[in-house]
Amino acid sequence: MIISMRKNATKEEIEHVCERIREFGFKVHSIEGEERVVIGAVGVGDVTPCLEMLEATPGVESAVRISAPYKFVSREFKAERTRIAVNGVEIGGDEFVVMAGPCSVESAQQIMETAEAVAGAGAKILRGGAFKPRTSPYDFQGLELEGLQLLAQAREATGLAIVTEVLSERDVERVAEYANIIQVGARNMQNYALLKALGKCPRPVLLKRGMSSTIKELLMSAEYLTAHGNPNVMLCERGIRTFETATRNTCDLSAVAVLNELTHLPVIVDPSHATGKQSLVPAVSRAAVAIGADGLLVEVHPCPEKAFSDGPQSLNLEQFRSMMRDLKPYLRLWKETRVAAAATA
Ligand code: PEP
Ligand code: MN
Repeated sequence: MIISMRKNATKEEIEHVCERIREFGFKVHSIEGEERVVIGAVGVGDVTPCLEMLEATPGVESAVRISAPYKFVSREFKAERTRIAVNGVEIGGDEFVVMAGPCSVESAQQIMETAEAVAGAGAKILRGGAFKPRTSPYDFQGLELEGLQLLAQAREATGLAIVTEVLSERDVERVAEYANIIQVGARNMQNYALLKALGKCPRPVLLKRGMSSTIKELLMSAEYLTAHGNPNVMLCERGIRTFETATRNTCDLSAVAVLNELTHLPVIVDPSHATGKQSLVPAVSRAAVAIGADGLLVEVHPCPEKAFSDGPQSLNLEQFRSMMRDLKPYLRLWKETRVAAAATA
């Protein structure tokens, strides 16, 4: 249920409404908007008698049932887009945000050189895996703590914020010490123990869509994060598994449009994992801008042929610079569209 309080509702009235809702067996989350307080109530309580009670309670303007199974992340719950502020950058706002960097952090030289190049080309966030989820146990598993420290040094040198993956709830605190944004990889999208731990974590989360997950399942996983206390979630379309073999995955670009209808959370597109091919990354990136994504997550490496992981889909530094140059006219249009949409909302 969503309960909109009257503009002039008092603190006592709001607290009283929350208490009554709890008596019906629901958990309560209130959001203080500019004009009014909106209360979200979720749980296993009985909705109909609770709605009747609310209609008769002072301070309540309206109370409605949320029909979607995901509550806090739905547009029904919150119409305006969620903006997530990270290190002076806003994701979900009026700027398209590019996150770029290597698949894996490999060495001080590699991450520093990449960080400087992507910052120079206009990226605002540095990506790099320190804990790597690899299909084979014999493949490079990441530098772990050393990787996190190298990312922090690169942030220090360039001012870029850091996004990096966590694989296990055991490592959440350790990764949160270094990262500005914590990535949940496709393979962990439905690791509910991890999602619950990240719900209590003070860092925003970039939640990647599982390779065989539906949009609804993605939103339910985002709901785990918000229901456990973390409202700062961005979703990432990184391609799904289909019968097609020309690309590593099939980039489900329409998912971006669907998500923009269903949720207020920012949506990021990862053209690197979605295609698996460096040559396809710029075209899919342009399409992501056109369809209204909030940003990109792009793999970039100073020498892709020597990369420890995902070399074939990584842009080299010059290719990244050139893609960023070519995106400029599309980004101007993106901004016009975004500002116009905000003005009519
Ligand atoms: C990655 O970002 O390097 C990664 C492992 O992505 P995904 O979880 O989408 O496969
Ligand atoms: Mn990768």
